[in-house]
Amino acid sequence: MEIIHVSAECYPVAKAGGLGDVVGALPKYQQESGCIAKVVMPMYRTKFLMENQWETVHKGYTHLGYWWFNYTVIKESTNKLGFDLYLVDIYGLLDREKIYGYDDDIERFTSFQIAVVDWLASWNHRPDIVHVHDHHAGLIPFMMKYCFQYQHLQNIPTILTIHNAQYQGWMGWDKSHFIPAWDPWKWGMLDWQNNINPLACGIRCAWKVTTVSWSYLDELRVSANGLEALFEYEKGKCVGILNGIDVSVWNSSTDRYIENHYSIKNVDAGKLKNKKLLCDRFDLDINKPLVVFIGRLVGEKGADLLPQAIGDSFYYIGRKMNFLILGSGFPEIEQALENMKSLSNRDFSVYIGYNESLSHLMYAGADYILMPSRVEPCGLNQMYAMRYGTVPMVRNTGGLRDTVIDYGEKGGYGIRFNNAIVGDITQSIWRAVELYQMEEKIREIRQRMMQIDFSWETSVKQYLDIYESLK
Ligand code: ADP
Repeated sequence: MEIIHVSAECYPVAKAGGLGDVVGALPKYQQESGCIAKVVMPMYRTKFLMENQWETVHKGYTHLGYWWFNYTVIKESTNKLGFDLYLVDIYGLLDREKIYGYDDDIERFTSFQIAVVDWLASWNHRPDIVHVHDHHAGLIPFMMKYCFQYQHLQNIPTILTIHNAQYQGWMGWDKSHFIPAWDPWKWGMLDWQNNINPLACGIRCAWKVTTVSWSYLDELRVSANGLEALFEYEKGKCVGILNGIDVSVWNSSTDRYIENHYSIKNVDAGKLKNKKLLCDRFDLDINKPLVVFIGRLVGEKGADLLPQAIGDSFYYIGRKMNFLILGSGFPEIEQALENMKSLSNRDFSVYIGYNESLSHLMYAGADYILMPSRVEPCGLNQMYAMRYGTVPMVRNTGGLRDTVIDYGEKGGYGIRFNNAIVGDITQSIWRAVELYQMEEKIREIRQRMMQIDFSWETSVKQYLDIYESLK
């Protein structure tokens, strides 16, 4: 079976969050299970691009509305990721340093999608499945069905995986001419509340829709940034499949970003060595539990609650714990956290920015990882953390609900709280401090967490079953 994944991110080529991790891992494990899995993504100007070898596989000429452009598809020559990786180069539009955040993102990702479909249309054979990820590829199922020049692709099954339904790629109807000539009777497929909504369009036009956890799928029917009714209407074709984690990258015995490797046998000593590195580097007290936050500093992740929750914890519980934050996002949140540095008594620090190697050290050296998310489609951090023996403190939502059981329950291993509010976070920090005193208990929890199977095998099988059902 040949599967083409279309995505805006893929680790290690370009990653801004969980989407990159998933698209970097899923095809690799699909390939191992005997499928042919390929990834096609935009050619950004990344380190990976500069450091690897490429061959040109296709040159095409197509248009975004009235603007005609050349595009080139290049392929990584050595197959070093374990699957074929293709990059689409559109001069001036995609070859930029960042993945997102430009004023012309709509033009960038719409032309990317047009180029991908145009390239697929030129193939001599047909892939078995086109698997698109998030709104950046959400128009592809529509184009394959309803754009006149691509209608010979309409029998290829398409799957849309939603990693985050908050972002939908809206554009005004004044941009409808961007999409290559399409059947005007189908305008309703593109429209959601008087805008073109690529995510909604993907949900309607893809043959099957998956979300990255089953609880998230349930939640989308009541909270989906305006698409609730659509999720309710289309529930028959939606399935939740929990992400796995790439255990070849996220393995505390071999992790290339950390010096002090450890396994389940020496987890306590191993974690302590890594904690020491963090405490030395960020001037923290190694004798106190270390609570970390890693992620985008946005409301969705509950990051706006951190300054007050940390302040309240110091005030009400006492200075009995350390906090270390890694992330970037809203300038107001970044500034509020930076300001708190001056109040640190060797117990608070923050690193503003994206830093892959520091994140690995934090998973390895922390005692707890805090995730007070308002929305969490799957969440990978808690799974990485558990694999590294770090106890997750999570809000009871989405994938966090599906992967973390409170240690107060039978067989549990994490700390769960119900609301994304300061009071609940502070209370869970109090519980973390209390748990830290119970050395035997925390040792047992670490052992239990590190044995949980979060590998991709189960999810790969579930995706395969869906593909098979569409053939
Ligand atoms: P998201 O909603 O951001 O995709 P996920 O939990 O699915 O959240 O994935 C987050 C991924 O991004 C994890 O691999 C996490 O370690 C990584 N990450 C997030 N922010 C940073 C950062 N500032 N530096 C390094 N890694 C980060």
